[in-house]
Amino acid sequence: MIVYNTKKELARHLDKLREQGKTIGLVPTMGALHEGHLSLVKRSALENEATVVTIFVNPTQFNDPSDLEQYPRTPEKDLKLLKSYHVDVVFMPSVEEMYPEPDSQTFDLQGLDLVLEGAHRKGHFNGVVQIVSKLFDAVEPHRAYFGQKDFQQLVIIRHMVQMMGMNLEIVACPIIREKDGLAMSSRNVHLGVREREIAPFIYQTLTLAAGLKPGLSPDNLKTRVREAFSNQSQFQLDYFEIVEDKALRSVKDWDEGVNKVGCIAVVLGGVRLIDNMFFD
Ligand code: AMP
Repeated sequence: MIVYNTKKELARHLDKLREQGKTIGLVPTMGALHEGHLSLVKRSALENEATVVTIFVNPTQFNDPSDLEQYPRTPEKDLKLLKSYHVDVVFMPSVEEMYPEPDSQTFDLQGLDLVLEGAHRKGHFNGVVQIVSKLFDAVEPHRAYFGQKDFQQLVIIRHMVQMMGMNLEIVACPIIREKDGLAMSSRNVHLGVREREIAPFIYQTLTLAAGLKPGLSPDNLKTRVREAFSNQSQFQLDYFEIVEDKALRSVKDWDEGVNKVGCIAVVLGGVRLIDNMFFD
């Protein structure tokens, strides 16, 4: 496993792999790695001859400077973890390396970036697209691996690849959860003991909602979920929406011939947590 900090060194290495006809899988991360990230790494290592993991806390996707500052960073631990997997290259660039000049490029994401997370984190997905497109340019992978945990991000990246006519496959990987159902997230380390204890309520409520689906309309189900959270004073519900899995449009009727996803965001003890579940 080789660690590079510059695009130039990375390109030299990857050119050699490509000359040898090797397929390249890319796993973009912001580090503070956990089993969720590692599931993407394992999948890439299974499906490609070489795997590149990137670790970069991308400033342009943070709309809150204190959130960026407090984002967990554990580079040494991350590298140690990755050594036990079939990773060829870890790319850990500096902010200057990825943004030699401020990037003001904006992308038309056809409104996909304005709902759900986008409605609460202005400019977030534009920043995500900025960095992911830069990483795709730097690595030119055959496949790139993303978690369904960040469902909206996945939809937007698929849209970006199509819009820009990029030649790579986007592979969606299932959500990895703690034993009690909490979706793994780098942010979970910020939860206090009490908050960590009650955090599985998010997954429990999603599961309950999926079970109630046959008897309730989407709107009534959303009301039930909102009521459930209003009885839990520690949680502040940012949103719970049931959306169609491609256009992210709110579903009005279960009979619509589309896949439906329940998407949720809550703030618990100052930590923002997101989760989702397919409702089909
Ligand atoms: P992040 O470091 O949070 O930007 O995440 C990097 C990648 O790991 C993204 O594609 C995430 O969707 C994915 N990921 C994060 N948490 C999980 C999880 N619990 N299960 C599956 N994938 C995840």
